[in-house]
Amino acid sequence: MSAVPVEPVDELQIYAAATAACTRCRLAEGRTQVVFGAGNPRADLMFVGEAPGFHEDKQGIPFVGQAGKLLDGLLAGVGLQREDVYIANVLKCRPPGNRDPQADEIEACEPHLFRQIELIEPKVIATLGNFATKLLSGRPLGITRVHGQEQALTIAGRSVVLFPLYHPAAALYTPAMLKVLESDFARLPEILGRGLAPVAVPDAEEPASDNLSQALSGPAEQLGLF
Ligand code: URA
Repeated sequence: MSAVPVEPVDELQIYAAATAACTRCRLAEGRTQVVFGAGNPRADLMFVGEAPGFHEDKQGIPFVGQAGKLLDGLLAGVGLQREDVYIANVLKCRPPGNRDPQADEIEACEPHLFRQIELIEPKVIATLGNFATKLLSGRPLGITRVHGQEQALTIAGRSVVLFPLYHPAAALYTPAMLKVLESDFARLPEILGRGLAPVAVPDAEEPASDNLSQALSGPAEQLGLF
């Protein structure tokens, strides 16, 4: 009997289901649920935030609170929707009172994020804030130093462009930071386009693909995003 190959998309679902019962760290005790990640499992662009907050813990979806609304607006500003990208966090469970992630929690949760990256195979990873940036860059430099500076790295065995951004929650109440976040964000289509092989624009009759590379080679390109 020949084995049926498991596609990465299915594997991601299987992995998410297994992660729902994770007890690798103390955060398992206080959570409502694991917030694994959401979006297009074949996305070329992946965002990595810090950790679920109150609303994310209740709904099981990352970035659904105020910071998430800002992220939605920033995405819309570059012609993207949540469905075009994949969104995850360094920690999959809410720290009590939204305190900072602790080193041992990050270490315990790290295999989940790296497996996600392996299965999604993004071309660009935009890190939101210090925790994701330091973890994925493997360097201690803070977000104030490195935001907006793309880095070619190997992460989870894959060549990716890491693009550090300020965390939307930090920008919510600091207008100067919001301006910087907006201008860094505006560079994403160009960074993505650079890393993508040209893809034929589908015929008008064909159903639209939710793959970001195709989305960006179609309407977004016509809107002058590149
Ligand atoms: N902040 C994060 O870093 N992640 C979320 O999912 C929500 C807020």
